[in-house]
Amino acid sequence: MKLPNGVRMFLLRACSEALATFSNLCRRKIREENLCPICHPQEETLSHALWSCGVARDVWGQASRHIQKTTTNDPCFNVVWSQMRERLFQPEMEEAGMIKRLLWTRRNDFVHGKAFRHPNSIIQKTEGDLRCFKKAQTKTYVGITRGSTPCEKWKKPSEGKYKLNWDAAIDVSRDLVGIGGIIRDCNGEVLATLRAKRKMILSPFAAEAYALMVAMLFSNEAGILKLMLKGDSLQVVQKLQKLVEDWSIGGLIVEDTRKVLKSFISWSVCHTKRDANMIAHKLAKDALLSDYDLYDLEEIPNCIKQLVAVEAFVTLFKQ
Ligand SMILES: [Zn+2]
Repeated sequence: MKLPNGVRMFLLRACSEALATFSNLCRRKIREENLCPICHPQEETLSHALWSCGVARDVWGQASRHIQKTTTNDPCFNVVWSQMRERLFQPEMEEAGMIKRLLWTRRNDFVHGKAFRHPNSIIQKTEGDLRCFKKAQTKTYVGITRGSTPCEKWKKPSEGKYKLNWDAAIDVSRDLVGIGGIIRDCNGEVLATLRAKRKMILSPFAAEAYALMVAMLFSNEAGILKLMLKGDSLQVVQKLQKLVEDWSIGGLIVEDTRKVLKSFISWSVCHTKRDANMIAHKLAKDALLSDYDLYDLEEIPNCIKQLVAVEAFVTLFKQ
């Protein structure tokens, strides 16, 4: 099966039930309710979200004929996927893999407040992405890596609390804002990461405020309600700490963020140096390169694996 790395990784994680469905979050005691955020009466297992949910069926109903005819109702995603493998040809499996990835992205977008995409647009994007991918395979890309290590020590949150580091990256030439967030527990374990991209023109202050808002909604949705917020924008941190009237876009976003934070059990915010916020920064930069929003649970994205390892090492030996 020839699919983009992101889609392959996604399927791998889906087959090992490593995605943050409400059912999985419930099992990990991060959330209390496991119902599908879209159709409600059903439990949101992965097989439900990617196959049997009514809104997923609408998309599958427009896929290739062989895929449409596949009937399976197994609650385990792995079984659903294996059954498809047995019945479908390679191009159909590639199509199915791509659709599943887009269904998950659409579900996440919906959960995070974006408009719900029409089934047609998913099918069109599947076809377009597969075409682009096949074309791109003939080209070679050169990746640029910059050697960087976090100098300042990252500190663990206290017992029972979680730490959210967030950051924004701006691509001025394309009017894009990249959003990065990472949530870690009191043992320093990575619980979740977020990479999202929005087409908007914002000042650095407003972009930082917006990134915090998205990261905080992500945390709220994951049921993580005891949060220590850490960011490298002094302006955002100070405005969040102390109510000051500010009618700029950034100021208004901070105001909205403060309102949402009221629904948290506890929260605090403090400023951190850029060096200690490198992982969130890297996630924000990486978000600019992706076509999709990426929400990872207990899975460390490749772009930060090295930084996380270095930071764990530094934290361990500089206590
Ligand atoms: Zn559903």
